[in-house]
Amino acid sequence: METSTGGAAPPDSSVVTAEGVAGDAVVVTGATAVPPASLSPSRAGDFMQCPLLYRFRVIDRLPEKPSEAATRGTLVHAVLERLFDAPAAERTAPRAKALIPGQWDRLRESRPEVGELFADDPEGERLARWLAQAESLVERWFTLEDPSRLEPAERELFVEAELDSGLRLRGIIDRVDVAPTGEVRIVDYKTGKAPRPEYAEGALFQMKFYALVVWRLKGVVPRRLQLVYLGSGDVLTYDPVLADLERVERKLLALWEAIRLATETGDWRPRPTKLCGWCDHQAHCPEFGGTPPPYPLPVRAPESGGVQQGRMGPD
Ligand code: SF4
Repeated sequence: METSTGGAAPPDSSVVTAEGVAGDAVVVTGATAVPPASLSPSRAGDFMQCPLLYRFRVIDRLPEKPSEAATRGTLVHAVLERLFDAPAAERTAPRAKALIPGQWDRLRESRPEVGELFADDPEGERLARWLAQAESLVERWFTLEDPSRLEPAERELFVEAELDSGLRLRGIIDRVDVAPTGEVRIVDYKTGKAPRPEYAEGALFQMKFYALVVWRLKGVVPRRLQLVYLGSGDVLTYDPVLADLERVERKLLALWEAIRLATETGDWRPRPTKLCGWCDHQAHCPEFGGTPPPYPLPVRAPESGGVQQGRMGPD
């Protein structure tokens, strides 16, 4: 594995996407709580980070406020994607930066709530700083990749594949490059910093997840997985082999079983870590003195094996 690393990264690059939201919903059939039929890397990551966080997001669907970091990530992704509409020779840093105002307008139109981020900024100073940070991230990309020499096969590609177990995997891949030889490279942009080497495996999980989906869909193991960290100016790459993807599939099936069990029993344990600092749900989390909302699904009583309507209290 080739890695180049910088400082500690926040959890993910904080990009707001709709990935996995609709398909991740839990449904109730009769007296049985049925776990969501699909998994995205984000939601799988949530469960691995903290089962209670997964519950809050997927089952309770508690609202989360847009953050400046996440919204900036969404904006930068949109700019990098749109830049490829231009002819190769015109894919320059000035042109990319010039796309920012228009993409910001589009983002506010499609998601009016992000406009509230700067509602208390009548002079527009914070907004100007925020836009300048987005410009810096876009500019840094040109030190890492040369878009005039790239012709992506796909951008913002929604992918979905069903495993033999019935579990559907889904997600959105930022960019897919296909070489004339047919070799596939999967690329993901991160607006945060690259993780330290000891955390690189976690960062690659999402990419291996996508590689597994591509393999399942096309029967081709991607030649390279590439994470482009705009926050620190690093590129992390990994060349997977089939055994990697089989390992990820086994891991996802185990995760799926754990989610199924938690859905059935209502036992969603909080798992506090320093990532709690980024969690929007401390007010509902027992680790921070909060109480989760009543569990909205039937739960199986441990002693009887039956199903009863229940409320999940703090552990
Ligand atoms: S605050 Fe921490 S422990 Fe509580 S739900 Fe959020 S991530 Fe989990």
